[in-house]
Amino acid sequence: MREGGCLCGEVRYTVEGEPRVVVHCHCRMCQKAAGAAFLTWATFPVSALRYTRGQPASYRSSVRALREFCGACGSQLVFRVEAEDGLDITVASLDRPDDLTPAANIWTTSRRAFMHGFDAGLDDVEGDWPD
Ligand SMILES: [Zn+2]
Ligand SMILES: [Zn+2]
Repeated sequence: MREGGCLCGEVRYTVEGEPRVVVHCHCRMCQKAAGAAFLTWATFPVSALRYTRGQPASYRSSVRALREFCGACGSQLVFRVEAEDGLDITVASLDRPDDLTPAANIWTTSRRAFMHGFDAGLDDVEGDWPD
């Protein structure tokens, strides 16, 4: 069982089990949502996540997905693809983010130039999550 939450502490969650995959996402939507060069995501079944304090605000960032974040402090927490039994949790919002190890960089065509060489030992995937 892992625990996490937002910057201000108003939204807390637990997540059960081991993630299917952990990736750094360099897509433009993650960059805009985070105000940062990339977001690191861990993928779990929908049933693995439970909000234990507060409830997140959400924003539909595309036809297929919602982004959930703290409405008070803005921390990005969850990417929820409604048609799939899966959601992604921001690794940096976990209380112990170093417990998970990213396996790939995805959407690398929009990786920012100043990130050159970042995690160069990982696989690069131009599009979506690796299988
Ligand atoms: Zn917050
Ligand atoms: Zn992304």
